[in-house]
Amino acid sequence: MEKLTVVVPAFNEEEVLHDSIKRLNDIEAELINDLSIDYLSDILIVDDGSTDKTWHIIEEEHRNNPRIKGIKFSRNFGHQNALLAGMRQAIETADIVVTIDADLQDDPNAIKKMVELHQKGNQIVYGVRNNRDTDTWFKRNSAQLFYKLLNMIGVQLIINHADFRLMAKPAVEALLEYKERNLFLRGVIPMLGFESERVYYKRTARTAGTSKYPLKKMLSFAWEGITSLTIAPVRLILYLGALVSLFGIGMFIYTVVEKLSGSTVHGWSSLMISIWILGGFQMMSLGIVGEYIGKVTTEVKRRPRYTVEKVLR
Ligand code: UDP
Ligand code: MG
Repeated sequence: MEKLTVVVPAFNEEEVLHDSIKRLNDIEAELINDLSIDYLSDILIVDDGSTDKTWHIIEEEHRNNPRIKGIKFSRNFGHQNALLAGMRQAIETADIVVTIDADLQDDPNAIKKMVELHQKGNQIVYGVRNNRDTDTWFKRNSAQLFYKLLNMIGVQLIINHADFRLMAKPAVEALLEYKERNLFLRGVIPMLGFESERVYYKRTARTAGTSKYPLKKMLSFAWEGITSLTIAPVRLILYLGALVSLFGIGMFIYTVVEKLSGSTVHGWSSLMISIWILGGFQMMSLGIVGEYIGKVTTEVKRRPRYTVEKVLR
């Protein structure tokens, strides 16, 4: 019999947490009945530095039912780190881990299908949403653009898969070997290999509370994702730079020929345009290169990804 732990990251989720825990509990109970999942299966909630009553709720739930466990971060370290911390603790006792958002927008009933697919030999099962109608027009299109962009520079993401997935212990152990500080899970996990499968589900709107991913956080998440997975932007700059230099050589020859043929200088506007375009291009290039140097700086510090303040086991 295998033991399952459901890992739930929670950042200021007081409005939904009680309900979510109840629903997850019911689903685990069903699983224990229908599939041979251990009755000790539990739920681990990672409080990512909430400032509301999230931690109190976790403590209260733990008191009533010791199968509900908790990790409290010392401050907000982000969704990805909360997932990592949860998975790391979960595999101390569990054989399979399912990660799901606290708002249960991702259909928790899909967990059953995930476990079934795992029992057929899959080490990773990805939850893939088959609808985007609960998203705003902006979120839908920006996500589309993000996948296209990453695809173009050679990073294969599983389209419409976020962080709702099942991982068996060996896959989690392999993931924990990836030591970089900034880990973009949905980019790295497909790189692990292992037998994997997908489960399709319908994503619903949040029932309570607000999104903890405002635009600023979303954009920074996307940018961190791109730059942590690939050096393609820097390479692109190299190619563009080579192209511009080639053009420069052409311009040089052209200028010399013009000069020799005696025609006078008459190119103020073209000069201005070139200066501004090239200036902008150089600044942008420096910025992108700087971004990667910044990443190196962050990585060589080898700081911990997160700090745990309390644990309820
Ligand atoms: N979350 C987190 N830390 C953060 C932001 C979000 O742990 O800094 C959690 C949040 O509590 C939720 C999940 O990550 O369980 C996804 O967040 P949300 O549902 O707000 O994002 P959306 O569904 O709007 O993309
Ligand atoms: Mg959500």
